[in-house]
Amino acid sequence: FYSLLFREKKRRKIEELTEKLVTKCLKLAAALSCTVRYILFSVCRMAVDGGHGDSGDWDGRWNHVKKFLERPGPFTHPDFEPSIESLGFLLETCKILVIGAGGLGCELLKNLALSGFRHIHVVDMDTIDISNLNRQFLFRPNNVGRPKADVAADFVNNRIPGCKVVPHFNKIQDFDESFYRQFHIIVCGLDSIIARRWMNGMLISLLSYNDGVLDPSSIIPLIDGGTEGFKGNARVILPGMTACIDCTLALYPPQINFPMCTIASMPRLPEHCVEYVRMLQWPKDEPFGEGVGLDGDNPEHIQWVFQRAHERAADYNITGVTYRLTQGEEHHTVTTSACSTEVFKMASSAYIPLNNYLVFNDVDGLYTYTFEAERKENCSACSQVPQDLQFPPSAKLQEVLEYLTENASLQMKSPAITATLEGKNKTLYLQTVASIEERTRPNLCKTLKELGLSDGQELAVADITTPQTVLFKLKLTS
Ligand SMILES: [Zn+2]
Repeated sequence: FYSLLFREKKRRKIEELTEKLVTKCLKLAAALSCTVRYILFSVCRMAVDGGHGDSGDWDGRWNHVKKFLERPGPFTHPDFEPSIESLGFLLETCKILVIGAGGLGCELLKNLALSGFRHIHVVDMDTIDISNLNRQFLFRPNNVGRPKADVAADFVNNRIPGCKVVPHFNKIQDFDESFYRQFHIIVCGLDSIIARRWMNGMLISLLSYNDGVLDPSSIIPLIDGGTEGFKGNARVILPGMTACIDCTLALYPPQINFPMCTIASMPRLPEHCVEYVRMLQWPKDEPFGEGVGLDGDNPEHIQWVFQRAHERAADYNITGVTYRLTQGEEHHTVTTSACSTEVFKMASSAYIPLNNYLVFNDVDGLYTYTFEAERKENCSACSQVPQDLQFPPSAKLQEVLEYLTENASLQMKSPAITATLEGKNKTLYLQTVASIEERTRPNLCKTLKELGLSDGQELAVADITTPQTVLFKLKLTS
């Protein structure tokens, strides 16, 4: 017993001594590293003050970037002339707008700032939610509730010397042409197709034409990144020159991917089972209380969906329902790397930009492919061709409204239709203001003839998907 006690005392003593020693060593190390840090800092300051006269730059800071800008290579643009001025343009002049400070936006801001872009603005209308913290890495728990744009800008500005991110806690619709015109390149990291289309429409409205010829100086390139589940895409849009968002609108299906009857009654794929639980079982069971929607960032919600989907798959002898499939994790890193690279290529004009649509998919294995999306001849956003609306005179206004919302190339959300009748501007239907909706609702049941619309009549349609009014020409068929 004594020998045991002695050994225990000895052990404690040794522990105590070790602890003291470690503390001393740590203190010494801290003091030393302070000195070392101070010396290093002074050296850096000297290099900066004597070298570039620009705060925040140290010797060799841009070596990696310079390698792309100051020498030719097998992949450089044929017209590219390597020069030391390109870096100056990136650092001092080039102004970038990032739309969205969420999953994609955080990555974009970090990438752009580290690539040398210093004049960056960011627009985001959201505040930080606790469920964002797992992947929106510029945010910390004590930032919850604060605007994403503000926190993201603060983080980047504090971390990356010389970088000036200007935050805007706003909707994109809060700004007009003069705001957007100040940027060299706009990058979208959005999850909303409506916002993306609005931005697209805004950049198209900035184009100017001389005798029908597009003035290239009025073009602001749009780099657009998007993710959905295991799929991602990056695209380069030169408004007025290459396919715009609305040109390829039919690529974004307005309805769900799987027919409802398949999901509900004859599932064949693991995805069908997951969709069944998400779309039908969740609203029916309300597992987390009445009216609690499915939150894709909430692990408990995902776990619940995963288990139910697993059970359903077992009932139908389907294999392959995994937690990963249920979660539908997003590929922000790949998409945003591609987007940031495109911004760099475009800003430096050192490399040929992506032409023009890159898809990325890792549902099963890994697949990536780039193709050239083509312009749509009669695109309602960028073609400058009047849009035809063909209806018989007996068609009701309701049918026109349905066409505008359901047509795959238009996909409007709450179109407001006006027409000039007998020299007066008349609102035929407007949904977004309750009093006007009530007043104009009877028009929906009237036929085009009853409304006094004739063949060739112009209809002006306003919608949240575009900042501009879209003009349609009514073609009455007999
Ligand atoms: Zn278009």
